Amino acid sequence: MGWRLLAHCKLAALEQRMIQLDPLTLWTAAAVLHGFAALVWALLGGFYRIAPRASMWLCIGELLMLPTLDCQGCSTAWPDALAPWMPSLLHLAGLLAMALGVARLLRLAPPKPALWAGLACSLLLALCAVAGSTSAALATLAAASALVCMGIAATLWRSSASGFLSTWVRVALPLPLLLLAADSLADMTLPWATEAHSPWLALLMTGVHLWLTLSLMTLAVHRLWLRILHLSQHDALTGALNRRALEERLSQMQARQRRGEGFAWIALDIDHFKHINDQFGHAAGDAALQQVSSLLMRQLRAGDAVARLGGEEFGLLLPNTGLAEAVALAERLRQALAGQPLHWKNQAWPISASFGVTATGNGDARDSADLLSQADRLLYQAKQAGRNCIRSDLTEPA
Ligand code: GH3
Ligand code: MG
Ligand code: MG
Repeated sequence: MGWRLLAHCKLAALEQRMIQLDPLTLWTAAAVLHGFAALVWALLGGFYRIAPRASMWLCIGELLMLPTLDCQGCSTAWPDALAPWMPSLLHLAGLLAMALGVARLLRLAPPKPALWAGLACSLLLALCAVAGSTSAALATLAAASALVCMGIAATLWRSSASGFLSTWVRVALPLPLLLLAADSLADMTLPWATEAHSPWLALLMTGVHLWLTLSLMTLAVHRLWLRILHLSQHDALTGALNRRALEERLSQMQARQRRGEGFAWIALDIDHFKHINDQFGHAAGDAALQQVSSLLMRQLRAGDAVARLGGEEFGLLLPNTGLAEAVALAERLRQALAGQPLHWKNQAWPISASFGVTATGNGDARDSADLLSQADRLLYQAKQAGRNCIRSDLTEPA
């Protein structure tokens, strides 16, 4: 616990030269922090419905920690009649609630080893309490708290978050948890450290808690932002990209086209879709749209995009794809669609689609609007040719 010793010496020196920190003020600041954090989690989860379960666990965690704050003898909040290890037990329970909340917030599996360790230590604590050994009970609880903190940090470190989340989840969150774990271990291994607990160290740990709380709230808001982004870019019924998102992708494609990277565009329209609505009702039509959309998404590569252009018409944007490759893909999709009828109320209704396929070529001066209207024209030709077929730049007479 070198860091703690060092911090203790340095802070003790600071303390002599600088303002004295009043333990009661520190305790009040920490209590306000935990109370306010609990209120914000309750509002985020209960009122705004942002990650409700995670917010509930995190709110419970903050509330459980509230009565455990170290006041260095300035408070009579804990009556002597209560066991001296009770605050430590509540602290451990608060950490376990936080472990569950963090895992839920990030959609990760709960840190099972940490939860088991917490449970095992609670049982050990019961034995210590029965045996009447307060110091053993306190050491057990400190060890359990450290294990739970390390368990949460390890879960976060192993998470597969990417981009902004990755830095936050792998660094900004585990670091305060490891500091909390180190603090618990120091309490366990250096009993004198608890006695000589510097108010500066208490301030430092309040800062660590603040850092952790703000990091978690940032993640909750980030999760909400991702959801809003998803809703603003996707069609609610099929999950395909909407028109606005498609236009963004198309302008990116066009920028790449200027650097010499071509792309292909496939327009497809379900044949006689109106018959499905007429025959089985609108719900069946919706189910058919979802079935077609998920089939398209399953068949495409990771960088490709499926967009719903409106009604029963879809568009497929294929980066770095030539015309021949796009026609081959359209043929695979046509066969896959024809091979998967809609099953509705014990009846099978055949589904097919007509395709228009076009791609940018070398020195192609057409913009994306030209490309889309070319694909529309080819799609119309496919309808004219009897449906369930493909028309492309290759089949169109020059
Ligand atoms: P074609 O082979 O020429 O494409 O004929 P079609 O029946 O597929 O095309 P048409 O344009 O005549 O009809 C499309 C129908 O799609 C009309 C519209 O009510 C229906 N539709 C559009 N959007 C939705 C939707 O979100 N859900 C459902 N169930 N139907 C929709
Ligand atoms: Mg149609
Ligand atoms: Mg149509």
